[in-house]
Order: sequence, then structure tokens, then C-alpha cells
Amino acid sequence: MANTVLFMEDVFVTFDGFKALNKLNFSMDYGELRCVIGPNGAGKTTLLDVVTGKIKPDSGEVIFKETTHLTRMKQEEIANAGIGRKFQTPTIYENLTVRDNLELSVKQDKTVKAMLLGAVAGSAGEKVDETLEITGLRDKQSWRAGLLAHGEKQWLEIGMVVVQDPDLLLVDEPVAGMTDRETENTAVLLKRIAEERSVMVIEHDMKFVREIANRVTVLHEGAVICEGSIDHVHEDPQVIELYLGRG
Ligand code: ADP
Ligand code: MG
Repeated sequence: MANTVLFMEDVFVTFDGFKALNKLNFSMDYGELRCVIGPNGAGKTTLLDVVTGKIKPDSGEVIFKETTHLTRMKQEEIANAGIGRKFQTPTIYENLTVRDNLELSVKQDKTVKAMLLGAVAGSAGEKVDETLEITGLRDKQSWRAGLLAHGEKQWLEIGMVVVQDPDLLLVDEPVAGMTDRETENTAVLLKRIAEERSVMVIEHDMKFVREIANRVTVLHEGAVICEGSIDHVHEDPQVIELYLGRG
């Protein structure tokens, strides 16, 4: 597993006897842009909660970058180790400018490494500039964040995680509520981000998944039922049954 950024083995999570993750096995390589799909209640968000340490599994292993055992770490430790998550709920400061929001996010990176390097202030500006560029928000950097359109707010939030330079970025349903145009831009944005890091995207929108994914993992009842290219997944009888069979 030398090329494995995230490795999960036999992970169980139980809520009041209900198995939200049921012997989940999952792994992804460095540099992948992986999409995780599955019906409501499949356990997708729970998977992210386990990776970020919000939920501790009943049993199983979760290993980041081959040697970092996440199940023994606190949420802040996991974030500092290089896993960033964009939440579905808004976390931007509406009254601050776009640029201020990004600068605040960089400065929250108070790891020993960053402080020892002593370059936080100087490199922060560069990181913010780069992130403004990637998210397409450079021309709006002095706007109050509250004035941004829905899609732009989502990109700012993705930027606020990316600016912290995670090795693995986790994004839960990034295009929910977006226009077609915003969805297309989000695809471009995530592909760009994935050039420099590993990205896991949870998403329902199949058109969007087709647009971005290298590999797709289908989750059902807390376990992986199918994995591969989008075409492979689309032709899988069990997946067809899940998505279309009862229609
Ligand atoms: P998905 O994101 O794929 O829609 P979730 O991971 O949110 O699914 O949820 C998986 C299952 O676990 C669902 O049946 C959900 O109701 C249940 N669940 C999730 N979180 C909790 C919780 N904190 N307490 C009880 N049940 C939960
Ligand atoms: Mg969910």
C-alpha cells in the first residue's frame, strides 16, 4: 500500500444497534480524485466523519499516508496531519472580505512546523493569492463574502480548506443547490485542486461525477458494493437496481 493516501479496513460504526458502516473496506491512492456515491443513508457522511475523527469507529483501521493511524487521534490532530474537510453548512464570515476569510484560514495553521519555518506571514499572502486564482475569486477578493452568489460562497469555502494545504481534501456534496454553470465551474475547480493533492468527493449528481471522477466507489448499507470507472459502475447490475430498479 505504498501509494495509498487513505486505507480503511473492516470499519464498523453503530448507532443504537444500526450499522451505519458495516465492515467498510476502502482505499485510495495519492493524487486520486475519487467520487463516493450511494443512496441516502448509505453511510457516505459517516465515512467522512470517521476519517476526520468526528466519529470513532467501533472497530477497524483507518490509516492515512501509510503510517498515521487516525482512529487513535483527535479531530485537531487529524486536521494538522493534513486532512481538510469542506462541510455542507456555511462557515464563512459574511461581514469580512473574501480575502480576509482566506487569510484567517491560513493563519489558523498554527502547527509547530509552520511556526518553526517562521514564514507564515510571507507565504500566507502567496497562498491566498494562489487560492484566489484557483477559485476564480481574485476579482472579488475585496467583496464582502456575504455578497457572493451561492456557488461563489461554496468555492470560497473550498478555498478556505485548500489554503491550509491539506494532502487529502474531503468534500461532501459540493454542487448541491448550484446552477448548471456553477456546477461546471466546480468540476474545473476540483480537478485543478486534485492536480496537487488527493481529493474525495461525495456526490449525488451523476453528471457531475462523470465529469470529474477517476474512480467511483458505490456505497450501500455501510459497505462498498462496486468500484471502478464511471462506466463500469453504471453497468453494474446491483448499482442499476439500487438507482433505477424501483423506479
Ligand atoms: P449518507 O451521507 O450516505 O446519506 P449517513 O452517513 O449520513 O448517510 O447516515 C448513514 C445512516 O446512519 C443513516 O441511516 C443515518 O440515519 C444514520 N445516522 C447517521 N448519523 C447518525 C447519528 N448521529 N445517530 C444515529 N443515526 C445516525
Ligand atoms: Mg450525507
